[in-house]
Amino acid sequence: MDDCIFCKIANKEIPTSLVYEDDLVAAFNDLSPQAPVHVLIVPKKHYQSVLEVPEGDAIVAHMFHVASKLAKELGIAEKGFRLVINTGKDGGQSVPHLHLHMTGGREHGWPAG
Ligand code: 5GP
Ligand code: ZN
Repeated sequence: MDDCIFCKIANKEIPTSLVYEDDLVAAFNDLSPQAPVHVLIVPKKHYQSVLEVPEGDAIVAHMFHVASKLAKELGIAEKGFRLVINTGKDGGQSVPHLHLHMTGGREHGWPAG
């Protein structure tokens, strides 16, 4: 996708320090962190949201696997963390490229906060 900010970050057209990268995904710190650790994990291929991921495509499972690995590396696995995929307007999605938020390093409330 030509004008997509997360495609540009994942493909290194916009210089961003990546905390993780493989053939399928890139992970980087959120510009506006909501917790001491706030990492975004995005597929390198453009999907507007989880609604566009076809059955049998393992990208979402891979994103969660990478989150699990990074949580251990970043020291938030033991106390816990939150994984969120906002989807569409009511879901609070502001960037139309599928992404997994991983927040940790503080206690999270539920359902808000
Ligand atoms: P959403 O609201 O779509 O679930 O999450 C989008 C997230 O992307 C927000 O938390 C926002 O701070 C982050 N974000 C938006 N633009 C950029 C950017 O250019 N660089 C980085 N690192 N994060 C961004
Ligand atoms: Zn994109």
